[in-house]
Amino acid sequence: MMNDEWTVFLSSFIIPHSSFLLFMLSQVVDLIVAKERFAITSHVRPDGDGLGSSLGLFWLLRALGKDPEVIMHDPVPHAYERLPGAELVRVTPAVDRQYDAVFVIECSDVSRPGLIDLEKQFVVNIDHHATTSHFGQVNWIDATASAVGEMIYNLMKAIGVRPTREIAECVYTALLTDTGSFHYSNTSERTFKIASELVRAGVKPAKVAQAVFNNYPWSKIELGARVMATARRDPSGRVAWMRQTLAMLDETGASEEDGDGFVNYPMSCGEVEAVAFLKETAPGVYRTSLRSKGEVNVARIAEQFGGGGHRNAAGCTLSGDWDEAERMIVRELLDAVERALDDSQVPTARLDAELLAALNAES
Ligand code: AMP
Ligand code: MN
Repeated sequence: MMNDEWTVFLSSFIIPHSSFLLFMLSQVVDLIVAKERFAITSHVRPDGDGLGSSLGLFWLLRALGKDPEVIMHDPVPHAYERLPGAELVRVTPAVDRQYDAVFVIECSDVSRPGLIDLEKQFVVNIDHHATTSHFGQVNWIDATASAVGEMIYNLMKAIGVRPTREIAECVYTALLTDTGSFHYSNTSERTFKIASELVRAGVKPAKVAQAVFNNYPWSKIELGARVMATARRDPSGRVAWMRQTLAMLDETGASEEDGDGFVNYPMSCGEVEAVAFLKETAPGVYRTSLRSKGEVNVARIAEQFGGGGHRNAAGCTLSGDWDEAERMIVRELLDAVERALDDSQVPTARLDAELLAALNAES
């Protein structure tokens, strides 16, 4: 089909999309139709969207009779072991086979998957971060999608595959985790529409939630107790921070991934606008999770330190002395909160003045 016909065809059933988004999607469809042997990968320490979208795409390609393989630098975390196909993920430090194309899911740059020789392959970059670099031969970037899972769903529709239970469970997990269980501001009508279709295709939401969120090892609970004991906040109460040390992992027998999700606890305090959670991965090296509410932009802060992410959820790696690293990131968060407050006050003040003028004119 010509691109114009594509646009009309796709618009008839896919959720409203701009024509450029449809063009990028059509490039991916054409590639899949024309080629056979594919690898799919995501970032190091893959999360629910990285794995769910990768495996969703894997099952989609299988349904089309193609020859796909999911390859990752890191093993599947405990929380995602029950995803259909999790046991098929091949852990490898390098792209050691030749593929017609390699799909790279939700990565800010070509080094994020941590796979040697990836750049020698035909790379298709699929991401929903506006900040991603266009590192692929084909780039499909949709910053309006709540998760790459939404994009995989759109691809499935575009290519004319019905959601199998496997595809549906993988894509649902991507949506569930990247929206913080439908809590975050990226949760849209479209997210629920897609989730609804996935449930119709056989997903049991309670079963997925149980597998992802209620299946922790006890070591995570013990680690959580230690991490939470380090929680502090600034005098205004708007910025909080916590640390997870290597000693804590030692004492509890917990793994680094057991710390995933702790960053959300201080966020559940009404006054807290931003949180930094520093996890020591080697002496003096801290993988740092940043979270914020509303207009407070932590992606911009993460980028300054060589990381990335979304406005309200981002990450980067810091190094040096514990206290100094903490002070540095907390200072940035305080500035960001201050800026967001300033920005929000200007229009409110103006609005109030306008409202007053209008009321005065009426009376
Ligand atoms: P996390 O705090 O690890 O859950 O990460 C939150 C968000 O930040 C996710 O969307 C990640 O993709 C993104 N992120 C975390 N670390 C990095 C990094 N080093 N580079 C780019 N993006 C990152
Ligand atoms: Mn994502």
